[in-house]
Amino acid sequence: MGRNKLTKQQRREKQILEDKKFKKYLRNGAIIGLVVVALIQIFFVHWCDTKHIIQKYVLYKKEISPKLICEVENKLKFHKSQVVDIESKMFYVCGSRCKHYIVEHYQQYAYTVDAYSGDSICKADAIIGLKEKGQPFILYFENKQTFKKYYGQNR
Ligand SMILES: [Zn+2]
Repeated sequence: MGRNKLTKQQRREKQILEDKKFKKYLRNGAIIGLVVVALIQIFFVHWCDTKHIIQKYVLYKKEISPKLICEVENKLKFHKSQVVDIESKMFYVCGSRCKHYIVEHYQQYAYTVDAYSGDSICKADAIIGLKEKGQPFILYFENKQTFKKYYGQNR
């Protein structure tokens, strides 16, 4: 009988030890799970934001596609822009609010100056570049020559 009791106690202790081990596994599993979820958040859910941050560095001194910018705000945007056709000229905006601005205030938003030469240009015909590395602000250039000269001289 005494021996039986002892084994029962041993079994109980063994059980407690195993429970502890199991809890440890659970805790580690939860930590790993959280890390995985965080990574998924960064790379998939916030991919647009992540891409946007990377682009502000990668696209510096490069010609930027108008499909990525809002020509009313003069900024690189998170999402693909909308095209507005005004008198057969294509303008790119981020949404209906900015579309309204360029349609209603065409002279104000459709035209700008070449960042190098200072000449007046239409945004629809311009070459686009980033103003500063890591910043979303954009500049417009009349042609590849002024584009190259601007980035060659200034930085
Ligand atoms: Zn906009």
